[in-house]
Amino acid sequence: MNNQVMNVGRNSQFTCRHCGAAVSAKGRIHTSCAAKRTITPPEVRARIDAAFLKNADRLGYLQSRWADESEHEDWTEYIDALMMLVPEGGKVLSTSKRPFGITFSMDGVVGAMYSFRATSNGVQWTRTK
Ligand SMILES: [Zn+2]
Repeated sequence: MNNQVMNVGRNSQFTCRHCGAAVSAKGRIHTSCAAKRTITPPEVRARIDAAFLKNADRLGYLQSRWADESEHEDWTEYIDALMMLVPEGGKVLSTSKRPFGITFSMDGVVGAMYSFRATSNGVQWTRTK
């Protein structure tokens, strides 16, 4: 599920990182939602960090190539390429052209979602839920 689909608030373009309901600013999370979130264990965080560092150049390359070649190339090949970037113990949930990237869950971190994303400004990994 992606954030655009979850954006149900008519007057807010921003959604809570946990529940998807409207919030006042980008990246916000309701206090009550933060308390319910499963903490990402350090060991899992380290695995995400390692996969991200290893694949950051590749992710950036894929984004800039897609930006130039989307008229001529097949998105399904990009999906395959993005799926290769997911950390050990990760399960792919979705891929997205804009923002360009992939969203996945990690074994043992119930309810959490993480994304590897790339824009023309750079690459990042974030916890998105
Ligand atoms: Zn919330």
